[in-house]
Amino acid sequence: MIDNKGILLIYTGGTIGMIKDPVKGTLTPFDFSEVSDLIPELQRFTFNIETIQFESPVDSSDIHPGFWIRIAEIIENNYNDYNGFVILHGTDTMAYSASALSFMLENLAKPVIFTGAQLPLGILRTDGKENLITAIEIAAASENGQPMVPEVCVYFESKLYRGNRTTKVNAEHFNAFQSANYPYLARAGVELVFNREFIRHPQVIEPLVVHKEFSDQITILKLFPGINRKYMDVVFGMKNLRAVILETYGAGNAPSAEWFTSRIKKAVDSNIILLDVTQCSRGSVELGRYETSRTLLEAGVVSGYDITTEAAATKLMILLAQQLRDEEIKMLLNKSLKGEITIH
Ligand code: ASP
Repeated sequence: MIDNKGILLIYTGGTIGMIKDPVKGTLTPFDFSEVSDLIPELQRFTFNIETIQFESPVDSSDIHPGFWIRIAEIIENNYNDYNGFVILHGTDTMAYSASALSFMLENLAKPVIFTGAQLPLGILRTDGKENLITAIEIAAASENGQPMVPEVCVYFESKLYRGNRTTKVNAEHFNAFQSANYPYLARAGVELVFNREFIRHPQVIEPLVVHKEFSDQITILKLFPGINRKYMDVVFGMKNLRAVILETYGAGNAPSAEWFTSRIKKAVDSNIILLDVTQCSRGSVELGRYETSRTLLEAGVVSGYDITTEAAATKLMILLAQQLRDEEIKMLLNKSLKGEITIH
């Protein structure tokens, strides 16, 4: 049963936590523990809101797995003391961080809501204020004594998305994120309307387990017309490489030239896991639908279905760090672990 434990705000950096230096005119991070000076409305919540901030806030372009571990450990250490967590994060790599946390936090039964802003809180027209207030409201929302959204999510510009389904698609408008292959989980209009049937709930309540190991033996290879053999050789020839996310065309298609197919086959035969992810933002890989993907299927390439590159990269980094055989990893790649893929 949920009680009045309040919400923990974790400020990692990004535009949201900035104000304009009145002298230099540049944007600089402000002390987030004083956020309620900027947003006095926060004091109107009837529950406790506490803040933890990174000693040095980071632009999210500097985020790496070490930061994900720090965020996850803050959640782990405070898990029983709060009803939910709101993570303030730069938008540039928010989709990666939300995806990573979704795979790291095993048995998660509380809301972890990422949000940020395109314009800093210290600017009059900021989108950060609405994003922050609504993210807190969502993290605290409950029904029949249970949290409404016990998942890792991204809240941005009036929509709540499953975190591992998101991609940043806009660098200038307030609606920076999309979840092209999965419906939004809630919409904030006059009322907060939850899309209940699409929200994941844990089947059984088990203690939170945090995966803290990451492999860096992966890379992403985006296909383009004219890609050459030398480039493929360099990528697949990388030392200690264990997996490649192959960003393919349309429904998972790739060139059918003999040199290309045999290069792919050679990579698979040398135990590199190849995961086929489409470059299209909407739709799914369907290996074998066209002749140009049948060859990939026959070579042993694994279908990524409708996974985003962000979710594919973080899922692979975590799976490869576990003591699993390649066959088990391939099996798990074809399974929805945290609602990241749709398999019909
Ligand atoms: N460069 C910033 C970051 O991702 C942009 C933002 O916060 O939206 O940290």
